[in-house]
Amino acid sequence: MKPDCIIIGGGAAGMMAAIAAASCGASVTLLERNPKVGRKLYITGKGRCNVTNCCSSEEVLRATPCNGKFLYSAMGKFPPSFVMEFFEELGVSLKVERGNRVFPVSDKATDIIDALLKELKKRKVRIIETRATDLLVNDGAVYGVVTEQGEILCDRVIVATGGVSYPLTGSTGDGYDMARAIGHSVVTPKGSLVPLTSDDPCCPEMQGLSLKNTGLKIKNMKGKVVYQDQGELLFTHFGLSGPMILSASAHLRKFETDEYTVFLDLKPALDEEKLDARLLREFEENSNKDFINALDGLLPRAMIPVVVDRTGIPPGTKVHSVTRQQRRALLEQMKNFSIKLTGTRPVEEAIVTSGGIKVSEIDPKTMQSKLVQGLFFAGEVIDVDAYTGGFNLQIAWATGRVAGLSAAMMGKDDENEF
Ligand SMILES: Cc1cc2nc3c(=O)[nH]c(=O)nc-3n(C[C@H](O)[C@H](O)[C@H](O)COP(=O)(O)OP(=O)(O)OC[C@H]3O[C@@H](n4cnc5c(N)ncnc54)[C@H](O)[C@@H]3O)c2cc1C
Repeated sequence: MKPDCIIIGGGAAGMMAAIAAASCGASVTLLERNPKVGRKLYITGKGRCNVTNCCSSEEVLRATPCNGKFLYSAMGKFPPSFVMEFFEELGVSLKVERGNRVFPVSDKATDIIDALLKELKKRKVRIIETRATDLLVNDGAVYGVVTEQGEILCDRVIVATGGVSYPLTGSTGDGYDMARAIGHSVVTPKGSLVPLTSDDPCCPEMQGLSLKNTGLKIKNMKGKVVYQDQGELLFTHFGLSGPMILSASAHLRKFETDEYTVFLDLKPALDEEKLDARLLREFEENSNKDFINALDGLLPRAMIPVVVDRTGIPPGTKVHSVTRQQRRALLEQMKNFSIKLTGTRPVEEAIVTSGGIKVSEIDPKTMQSKLVQGLFFAGEVIDVDAYTGGFNLQIAWATGRVAGLSAAMMGKDDENEF
């Protein structure tokens, strides 16, 4: 039987779109290449699924540095409060944590997936395990989808195939290829919320070291602070990773034309005066030790040789003979430990893909293509991406919902009246 609506991709956006379209009475077929839907959802929020952010729709737009304005209408129609209500109604109790991040009370992403699956079943959405390869378009209108199992005819198709990050989850960029083949422009995908690379040998030297409660400033070539935060980071063989670094990466969008340097404040709770007093105390207590052996109370062990090297103080210098100027050099390293960045890790390792279907070719009120009638886009396949905190899933839910409702209502008098 010919469905009213086909959705390609059973991720967050596709499942939400399917439920929305089916709730309007449309018969819906969902095509998912994996044996199970929602594979990426399983790994979100470290398996806990940070399902949205408990904030206003305006705040979501502000947390969306890339094409936030495009989401104005969709976020107004399905803001975080509606998303929370939606999941609570499906029986998933939610809780709000630091930074307004929303999680299931159970801390299990599977609860979100199970609730969506149950609702898909209830709404009689037909799920087919197959990979879509092409969109069928004639005379500026879509009329079906080519899959590995053959063609399915349908005049309403929603592409919700995700980006190219974490491709093992099934998001390998098929949506870009299908859209490009019928005339859409695709903004080159790049990683966002992604580890950062550096040539500085200190990174492999301190590989595996995780710093908590560390101050971070990232300055550009002109010395302007482009990102500032306090939290956790990790040294790796290629550079830097960890929560604070992933968040920072969303703000570093000009590696081609600009240069960025990280400055770490290893003692953010102490201003320079207080830190100097602390150094003096520490030096008094260890006055007969070699400089390199006197820093255990001040720095993590793996950092000591690197910091000592950077101060220029010979490691065997007796602490009582360290000069004020040398102590100043140590203080400077502890307050402004610099690492020059070279770029980001590949998009495949990114939490989200920045880039995708050009937003100017999509109607923001309906998510319908401006080039092909009956074709809609939802989720990460679109050129929008946000910071961490549940905002990216919020984008998937909102655009999925709008695309699903719009597709179901297409051609009806009350189109757009949801
Ligand atoms: C490790 C990790 C943790 C994350 N944690 C969070 C978090 O806690 N909170 C948050 O807000 N965001 C988080 N994100 C980002 C968030 O998961 C994504 O932004 C979101 O899943 C995008 O949803 P989507 O439906 O657009 O795409 P996806 O979830 O990628 O789904 C796309 C689906 O389409 C299917 N598909 C692709 N091509 C085809 C094809 N040709 N035919 C059929 N099916 C196809 C794929 O198999 C996949 O199931 C995280 C991402 C990662 C990688």
